[in-house]
Amino acid sequence: MARYTGPVCRLCRRERMKLFLKGDRCFKEKCAIERRGYPPGQHGQRRGRRSLGYGPQLREKQKVKRIYGVLEKQFRNYFKEAEKKRGVTGDNLLISLERRLDNAVYSLGFASSRAQARQLVRHGHVEIDGKKTTIPSFQVKTGQQISIKPSSRKNEFVRASVETARGRGIPNWLDLDPENFVGKVTAMPTRDDIKHPIEEQLIVELYSR
Ligand code: SF4
Repeated sequence: MARYTGPVCRLCRRERMKLFLKGDRCFKEKCAIERRGYPPGQHGQRRGRRSLGYGPQLREKQKVKRIYGVLEKQFRNYFKEAEKKRGVTGDNLLISLERRLDNAVYSLGFASSRAQARQLVRHGHVEIDGKKTTIPSFQVKTGQQISIKPSSRKNEFVRASVETARGRGIPNWLDLDPENFVGKVTAMPTRDDIKHPIEEQLIVELYSR
């Protein structure tokens, strides 16, 4: 599957904001946004204010795709599903993305980035209610237990991530037992639980053109 494999800090610089794609480094002075908070490329520093209409709508969609590490086709499918559900389409879209297993693993602090969380899931280190689950897009539900497989709990990346995530905080809809590497989905996430500055209405407008 075609996935972006270039330098991820460029993606943040393109969106002119932290997308938290690189784990621990994102919280340090080395973060590229702290040092060069302008878009990459020869004319990056000359790019002026954004226009209205298609440009910002496209950028907002790209931003959300990059935050959650979702490809275009998958993202469009999330949008189609969000439209079919009751309620506000933009909220439904973000909540579905938030409910992805890789996002929950990252939010619980078992991985330092969503990309690392995706890898942990794919490599079979994550269990849902005690059963191995290797699908990063799996939609978690209230009451489910998300844990790191007992034999993987010594994994140095997992241990280091849990340690650094302590300061990051756990979202309201999740609960964590860090000693036993077990998390629980205590409620469905709501729009208010998503702290990234996202204007989802722009994405709805883009797909409604
Ligand atoms: Fe983005 Fe993290 Fe790189 Fe900073 S360090 S630019 S937040 S990926």
